[in-house]
Amino acid sequence: MPTLRDVARLAGFSTATVSHVINGSKGVKSDTRERVESAIAQLGFVPDAVGRSLARKRNAAALVLPRKAFVESDSDQSLDSSVSPASVSSIDSARTMLRIVHAAQPISRADLARRLKINRSTVTEIVKPLLASGALCEAAPERGSAGRIGRPPIGLSLCGDRTLFIGVNIGVRRTQVGAAATDGRLLADEAFDTPADADASLARISSIIERLQESMPERTLISVGVTVPGPTDAERKELLFAPHLGWREVRIAETLNKESKQRGKNFNVPVIVDNDATAAAMYEARRHLRNGAPLGSNDFVLVRAGTGIGVGLVLGGEVYRGAGTDCGLLGEFGHMTIVAGGKQCACGNRGCWELYASATSAASLYAGDRASARGHRSPRFVEVVARAEAGELRAQATLARIGGYLGIGISNVITGLGVSRVVVSGRIVHGWKFVQQSLREAVAGSMVGRLSNWSVEQGQPTGAGLGGALEVAIEHYLTGLAESTRAAA
Ligand SMILES: [Zn+2]
Repeated sequence: MPTLRDVARLAGFSTATVSHVINGSKGVKSDTRERVESAIAQLGFVPDAVGRSLARKRNAAALVLPRKAFVESDSDQSLDSSVSPASVSSIDSARTMLRIVHAAQPISRADLARRLKINRSTVTEIVKPLLASGALCEAAPERGSAGRIGRPPIGLSLCGDRTLFIGVNIGVRRTQVGAAATDGRLLADEAFDTPADADASLARISSIIERLQESMPERTLISVGVTVPGPTDAERKELLFAPHLGWREVRIAETLNKESKQRGKNFNVPVIVDNDATAAAMYEARRHLRNGAPLGSNDFVLVRAGTGIGVGLVLGGEVYRGAGTDCGLLGEFGHMTIVAGGKQCACGNRGCWELYASATSAASLYAGDRASARGHRSPRFVEVVARAEAGELRAQATLARIGGYLGIGISNVITGLGVSRVVVSGRIVHGWKFVQQSLREAVAGSMVGRLSNWSVEQGQPTGAGLGGALEVAIEHYLTGLAESTRAAA
């Protein structure tokens, strides 16, 4: 996490001067202000008290008042007294605006105003300091495309020539590391089989990050997003428990920075650790924004079924992580009991949902208990799907059974959360044709299925893993930029 001191060092001023700029004190010279704002934007710096209270409020108020959470949350005593409700709400607008730019760039000011339902003059106000600091550009973004015919679109984009974000998706089977520009476009990536040992895995990740960084010397690494198959701590620095990997309390952010320091190649940037289903929900939310979904119509539950099952929740455009000390446990529906006294799960419980409805469970159900007792390898999920496609009844019946279990869990999720729009993503989507009917029947047969206007959509089979990790890194940067607009106001 960059500090006030880092901003001061980069801008070449004292921390007192930086504080004056952040607090909007009068008497700060305009070129001083610009240099400090540019440093804040580059580092993605978030002033402490505000950042913390915003994060908490987003969690606490989202379930009740997702769209008004920022405006109506001024009664908290711990909120920095210099932040009026109006400026908190403008930070919120700036952040939402930056997310739309990130998802739909290049986008014109008129389009932004229309989608945010605010005046163009307000857009101009928000955009001004971001253009001045060089975080946003307003021009044709595709400079390199000489072969283009006609005039390129003019609009606002996040300047992406100099910045670099790294996403790390630690999966149960494979780990992917990718580098991207501010639009989420992948510049390079590497993957390897996830080692059983957490430290070995992090050492490998750290060396890949360095290699990616060195291969693009013209870019500055801004932040690293790491996604994990399990719950994280409230600060999003540690993985608490990944049942299938057997990892407990892994200090990911600290270890990655320490690794790079030991090799004398300190990347020293914020490392944000998030649950993979939550990150996949952020990725899906960006896809919705890119496709022009109106703000506020985007409450949905993302069910990600692959090796396990994870659930992410998006309310009013924000991912919801739960509140209090248990935040981060919200995505763990995969470990809710669906069969009393059922199969033994790696998490310590019996009968967990993901043992009956994930892609991996489909493969082992297909092979049958006897095959696994004899030590035979289960076919991969895609092989089961291929056999179903070829007309094999046993494979088709297996997928239909998985769909039924998936539907039971989904109706439980809809019942529990009161959000009736569900997007299913992950490897299970490869078998959607054979899964969806029994899934829908199971939801339709539940009480909530009969009472509510539910929908279950098919999402992306792949891409949300690494895409989600990059989204975590970029979202951190956008939050810092939105904060810098308050400093400039
Ligand atoms: Zn479990």
